[in-house]
Amino acid sequence: MTTKLLLTFAICRLIVTVGLTVDPSELLLLGVDGQLSVDPFEVETASLDFGLLTRAEPMAVLHPGSADDIARLVRAAYISSHGFTVSARGHGHSINGQAQTSNGVEKHVEVWGGELWIDVLRSTLEHGLAPKSWTDYLYLSVGGTLSNGGISGQAFNHGPQISNVYELDVVTGKGEILTCSEEKNSELFHAVLGGLGQFGIITRARIALEPAPQRVRWIRVLYSNFSTFTRDQEHLISLHGNPISGKFDYVEGFVIVDEGLINNWRSSFFSPRNPVKISSIAGNGGVLYCLEITKNYDESTAGNIDQEVEALMKGLNFIPSSVFTTDLPYIDFLDRVHKAELKLRAKGLWEVPHPWLNLFVPKSRMADLDRGVFKGILGNNKTSGPILIYPMNKSKWDQRSSAVTPDEDVFYLVALLRSALDNGEETQSLEYLTNQNHKILRFCDDAGIKVKQYLPHYTTQEEWMDHFGDKWDQFYRRKMEFDPRQLLATGQRIFNPSFTSSTETVSPW
Ligand SMILES: Cc1cc2nc3c(=O)[nH]c(=O)nc-3n(C[C@H](O)[C@H](O)[C@H](O)COP(=O)(O)OP(=O)(O)OC[C@H]3O[C@@H](n4cnc5c(N)ncnc54)[C@H](O)[C@@H]3O)c2cc1C
Repeated sequence: MTTKLLLTFAICRLIVTVGLTVDPSELLLLGVDGQLSVDPFEVETASLDFGLLTRAEPMAVLHPGSADDIARLVRAAYISSHGFTVSARGHGHSINGQAQTSNGVEKHVEVWGGELWIDVLRSTLEHGLAPKSWTDYLYLSVGGTLSNGGISGQAFNHGPQISNVYELDVVTGKGEILTCSEEKNSELFHAVLGGLGQFGIITRARIALEPAPQRVRWIRVLYSNFSTFTRDQEHLISLHGNPISGKFDYVEGFVIVDEGLINNWRSSFFSPRNPVKISSIAGNGGVLYCLEITKNYDESTAGNIDQEVEALMKGLNFIPSSVFTTDLPYIDFLDRVHKAELKLRAKGLWEVPHPWLNLFVPKSRMADLDRGVFKGILGNNKTSGPILIYPMNKSKWDQRSSAVTPDEDVFYLVALLRSALDNGEETQSLEYLTNQNHKILRFCDDAGIKVKQYLPHYTTQEEWMDHFGDKWDQFYRRKMEFDPRQLLATGQRIFNPSFTSSTETVSPW
């Protein structure tokens, strides 16, 4: 049986932007079904992203009415002598201007590339189903996360979102609309997944679903010893092959270098009446580590949830007095970051620069990173945002995709999700945080820690070649095949590192 749900097209979210060297009246002759806009407000809005670090003003913005609209625009760019470029814009949540069968039953949903994951969730829940693999934040577009990876605490078990896609429709850089999957146009399929928008614009995705759980038991426990913390995390993700009852559904964690961050913007979890004073269990060097785990359940399994959780936690070595538990509906857990977003927005603390740094770190070098970064470079500082740290299994990543991960079976996400504040505190300024990011990258380089950036940002082609390593030749060959005129997603600055904003881009959402 195949469950096929058709979601409404969120067409207005698929924007395409166009460069200065083309006369907008030429574009109007394209005769698109959607709306092509040169409205200064729209153009200005499309020129910024979540990072607020770069600005790239497009010439025009297309809200396509169909995949054909996108194909028409890309074809026009492909044959144009003016050399304008085209970039998909999902929800503009890039940091550095990059947008400028289970049991023989395959359940899936067909979604528009510009659809937000929160809307995918709401629609599938109506049918008692939900995607398997998530990001922490759901106000991101399907095309945007599939162009990177799409990771959260489920990735150790289900793999990233790019491992949970059956089929795509893609408008290539030649303006062709191609359907691709493992079986059909497979080179394009693997290229596009984790492909940073370089090979085509995803207009439709067929996403794997599972029966949706109803509730979530959400637990946080603290550690003062880093190796105990990572040993427990690694044990938990090694259980991925176990039956559902024999593993947690989500494994994440974060570093607490600053007590205030126990309640960070990712989610308000600890009660203000929390009886445990964090400073009373101060760790080694003042740094604590928080393991975050969940167990999903529904009415039929509610009777066993306490015993299942207890059995799974038995072998863990956290600080005994530091167990924090809450219980909530599945959708509230998945949408947890949005609640914090609304609070930050109300205080004017959301639309600030975000010099984020996301690293994939090989398991064998995590202790070095702890010494050099958490207790070294970041030690004794207010950190201006959460620092996530959780392991994943490389076997869950399809090596044929364009995504790049370290060369070890287990690697960690270390995500420094910091916001720059203009509050007079030097340690929270954009300049200070950016310098610290550089110091961290230099430390890894000097110590020979072979990290890979997730949501990568580089300024030279040498750095990009180094990032892709063995995969560079394939990445380059795929670019020549699917976008030979290098029209797509120039904001990533891979094939056009000297690309400067404001002159030549077109972003589609
Ligand atoms: C608050 C917040 C929380 C986040 N949490 C997570 C997380 O938990 N896990 C995680 O993995 N990531 C996370 N991210 C990062 C996020 O996945 C990426 O920034 C992603 O690119 C954002 O999607 P978007 O729709 O905003 O894409 P955009 O920023 O609009 O685009 C990103 C890139 O993808 C390209 N692109 C966009 N749509 C398409 C398409 N349809 N086809 C082809 N290329 C396309 C663009 O051209 C651009 O190069 C988070 C980001 C924010 C701001």
